[in-house]
Amino acid sequence: MKYSDRLHSKALERYASQLNSRARAAGSPGAVTADELRGVVLDSGGRCSWCGASVVNAEFEIDHILGVVRGGPNIPANLALACPDCNKRKAFKHPARFAAEVLARGAPRTPFIDRVLERYGGDDPGMQGDLFADDLPPGRAIRGDDLDEDPAPYVW
Ligand SMILES: [Zn+2]
Repeated sequence: MKYSDRLHSKALERYASQLNSRARAAGSPGAVTADELRGVVLDSGGRCSWCGASVVNAEFEIDHILGVVRGGPNIPANLALACPDCNKRKAFKHPARFAAEVLARGAPRTPFIDRVLERYGGDDPGMQGDLFADDLPPGRAIRGDDLDEDPAPYVW
């Protein structure tokens, strides 16, 4: 979807419906409406939540902060605006791991990044095994962000 002063309701509805079917396929609870999606987009101030890049007049995507395949709920509080590059790089990574990655690449330490690190235990050594293990357990082959399968929720 393209970020501009006029976010078309039809586009938001289509996007909400995509997020909802992806979440359903992953067994994730919740559903988002086009209006809720509009709120997430406007709250972003036109910047990627992860790297801080402007998406004004550019394409953006909506990311489940804790991925639905990791058991993240499909609710507005678990959604963030992401630039296509960050969404692609993040794929199925644990949110705290990805937050550490964007900081290492020089992204500003924003309140969003702080919330992710606080909530998902980026600094907790007990989490390291999970955070830096392969992105998903063996036998869970998933390509890109495209879920046609029906994986069981991944408990991190
Ligand atoms: Zn980004």
